[in-house]
Amino acid sequence: MQISFHGADRVVTGSCHLIECAGKRILVDCGLFQGSRDLDEMNAAPFGFDAAAIDVVLLTHAHLDHCGRLPLLVKRGFHGEIIATAATRELTRIVLLDAARLESEDNARRTRRNERRGLPPAEPLYSMLDAMHCLDFFGRTTEYGRELEVAPGIVATYIDAGHILGSASIVLRLTENGRTVRLTMSGDVGNIGRPLLRDPAMPPPSDVVVLESTYGDRLHKPVGSSIEEFYSAINETFARGGNVVIPAFAIERAQELLFYIHAGIALNRLAPSIPVFLDSPMAVSATELFRRHPESLEPETIAMLEKGDDPLALPGLRLVRETADSMKLNVIHGGAVIIAGSGMATGGRVVHHLRHNIGRPSTGVIIVGFAAVGTLARQIVDRAPVVRIFGEEIPVRAKVYTINGFSAHADQSELLRWQRASAARRTFLVHGEEPAMRVLAAQIGGPDVYMPQLHERFDL
Ligand code: ZN
Repeated sequence: MQISFHGADRVVTGSCHLIECAGKRILVDCGLFQGSRDLDEMNAAPFGFDAAAIDVVLLTHAHLDHCGRLPLLVKRGFHGEIIATAATRELTRIVLLDAARLESEDNARRTRRNERRGLPPAEPLYSMLDAMHCLDFFGRTTEYGRELEVAPGIVATYIDAGHILGSASIVLRLTENGRTVRLTMSGDVGNIGRPLLRDPAMPPPSDVVVLESTYGDRLHKPVGSSIEEFYSAINETFARGGNVVIPAFAIERAQELLFYIHAGIALNRLAPSIPVFLDSPMAVSATELFRRHPESLEPETIAMLEKGDDPLALPGLRLVRETADSMKLNVIHGGAVIIAGSGMATGGRVVHHLRHNIGRPSTGVIIVGFAAVGTLARQIVDRAPVVRIFGEEIPVRAKVYTINGFSAHADQSELLRWQRASAARRTFLVHGEEPAMRVLAAQIGGPDVYMPQLHERFDL
C-alpha cells in the first residue's frame, strides 16, 4: 500500500496524488500547474505514472488546479471512472471547457510566435474535443457522508470541505492483506464563517492525512470588517461619481460578492437599485448552479431561497454573456459595479474594464482576492503609478481598495484544528509554498510531518 505525489508538492497548484492499494491505482485530483511560466511548462511533462493504468480518479473539487489535467490524463490513455459530487461534476464541465478554450487561444499565440522563428506549430495541452471526451469518463456521483466502495478494499466517503460549491475532503478506508489504513485527503479546506457555503466538516480519526497548507503561515482578518470595507469602497466611489471595477474569480468569489451586495441592500448600507454587471459567462453559469445544489449551501441560504428571497438576485443585477454587451459597458462612466474575470486580471473581460476605468480618479478598483506576483492585480495592489494594458501605458488614477478577509481557504488556526481533529500519526503537507509549509509543520510538531517532493513515494 503506497502513496505518491505528482503535483502541488511545495507549490500551490497541480494537485495530483496516487494511492496504490489491493492491486488498484486511485488518483486523487489531477490539477493544472498555474502561476508562472516554469509551472505552466510542468503541465506537459510526464505525469510520473502510467495514465492508462489508473483505475479511478476521485475528484475533490472543480478548481482548475485540481481538475485541469484530467483531459490530458484521458488523452494519455486513462479509461477508468471519475467520481465526484454532483455539483463538482457540473462545475468541472464549465471549468474544463473554459480551460480548453483558453488553451487553444494561447496555443494559437505560441504557434504564431513559432512561425515567426521558423519553428513548427505549437501543440496544445489539450483541445476542446479532448475536454469534452474527458467528461464522458465521469461515472458515479456521490453525496456528502455516504460510503462508496470504489473498488474491493477501497471505501471512500466525501465530506463537505466548505471551500467552493461541491467541494470535498475524501476519507478513505484502505484494506490490503487484512490490514486497514484510514487515510483522509483534505482537498482544499474552506474558511469558516463565510456565507452561502457550510463550514468545513472536520475529518474523522485517521491514521494518515494529506493536508493542504496554502495559508499555513497566516491568520485571516475577520470577514465582518472586510464586508464593511467593501460597502464603504462602493459608496465612496459612487460619491465620487465613478464606477467600481472588481476583478473576481468566476466560481464562488463572484457569487459571494452578489451575496454581500444583496445583504448590503437589506441592511440599508447600499442603495436598493445599485446597478451591478456580472460580466463573465462562466460566473453567470456558476451562479445558476448554486441554486441547483442546496446540498452544498448553508441552512440560512436554503431558507432564504425557500422564502423566495434569492440571495444571488439583485434588483439592479445584469448578467452579461455576450461580448458585444460587455463592450457596451465602456460608455458608462459612473455609478456601476462591474464584476468580471479573471480574478488576478491576467486576462478576460476585466482587463478591458480596467483599461477604460483605471485612468479616472473617480473610479474605485476593489481587489478582493489573492494576487500573485507579476499579475496586473498585484501591480494595482502594489500601487504601481502606471500599468501596461494591451501594450498601452495607462496612469493609475483610480482609488484602489484591497480587501483581505474574503479568502476561500482555511487559515493556519483552522488547518491546525482540522489536523488535530484527525489525530493522525502521519501528516503529509501539500498545496503550499515551502515557507508556509515549514511554519505549519512546526506548529503540528513531531517527526511524522512530511513535505513530499514531486514524484516522491511513501509506504502507507
Ligand atoms: Zn480550490
